[in-house]
Amino acid sequence: MKIPVNEPVIAPESKKAVMEALETGWVSSAGPCITRFEQEFADFVGMKHGVAVMNGTAALHLALVSLRIGPGDEVIVPDFTMIATITAVMYTGATPVFVDSDPEIFAMDPALVAKAVTPRTKAIIPVHIYGHSADMDPILETAAKHKLAVVEDAAEVHGATYKGRQCGSMGTMNCFSFYANKLITTGEGGMVVTNDDALAQRAKCLRDLAHSPEKRFVHTDLGFNYRMTNLQAALGVGQMPHIAEYIVKKQWMGRRYQEELSMVQGLRLPITKDYATNVYWMYAVLVEDTFGMSKDTLRKKLAEGGVDTRDFFYPCHSQPFLSGNPQAKSSFPVTEDIAQRGFYLPSGLALTEEQLTFVCNTVRKIALQA
Ligand SMILES: *Cc1c(COP(=O)(O)O)cnc(C)c1O
Repeated sequence: MKIPVNEPVIAPESKKAVMEALETGWVSSAGPCITRFEQEFADFVGMKHGVAVMNGTAALHLALVSLRIGPGDEVIVPDFTMIATITAVMYTGATPVFVDSDPEIFAMDPALVAKAVTPRTKAIIPVHIYGHSADMDPILETAAKHKLAVVEDAAEVHGATYKGRQCGSMGTMNCFSFYANKLITTGEGGMVVTNDDALAQRAKCLRDLAHSPEKRFVHTDLGFNYRMTNLQAALGVGQMPHIAEYIVKKQWMGRRYQEELSMVQGLRLPITKDYATNVYWMYAVLVEDTFGMSKDTLRKKLAEGGVDTRDFFYPCHSQPFLSGNPQAKSSFPVTEDIAQRGFYLPSGLALTEEQLTFVCNTVRKIALQA
């Protein structure tokens, strides 16, 4: 058996909507699915506006530009995240200021966020990692105290909650991704959600090359072509009726892994805080010394046994292209530690009970040899 780390599920409604888009010729960024997808997804998050774009990275960049973040500004980001969080800040000319993680939930440590604020700080980007919310209240407090924008990177947490609030509904402008391995997918795709009418308007304008609202082809600003196509939106619209069931499936997966693996010595399974509901974007585990084998050896043996896995993100500050960053040589002990010991198990929506059992049996067999 060969079990991929992720396999998407394409709903029959998506196939139908894509065919309809093809048959009616609405293949670019005009067409009925885009506004429908924006509204349905914004409603799902509990936000007023959705601005659909071509991917999650573009969503982050668009949110920051809409908030007028640029050269000379600092943006506080976690060191432990997918690199797009950092590149989006750098595209604006602003400086990313890294903070270390909470060792239990891997998201940015709120106490370190408070310490990282300087007179140049303009925004904080909390990233919810692997399906679990960041600890938002203290981060929102720091932001309110210093009048900073908060841009949630909610690319991995569609449907997760924090103290009953939806992830992606707590910041000023928040960003989602619809890449193939995210909870719902448009192939490539992303969305900015916000409650602010003026910011939504500005984001829509900048997404579409900043055509003047009075006169098309007169450009009032430096805009971008970040539009989502109707074909992508058709894929997304077809999955919206299933999103609740997808979340249930992910939570089933999290529960089953927990039941099957909690007895394995030296594997630290995901921790879900009382304040959070976890959607297990990826089932992420840490290999402790007591496991008796390194993570790399365990992953190699799993691969030989037919189980595909992935390493955690590598610490952003140590990425080669950031070697000139002032913080490249600083130490972020939690991030460095979890990056070294962490990996994730097959977690896709298509994962079956039979496959999950096979994965767990393979892990247990290897653990016995350790
Ligand atoms: C997936 C992801 C993104 C970027 O999304 P793309 O659609 O691949 O550009 C950004 N941040 C995080 C945390 C992600 O996991």
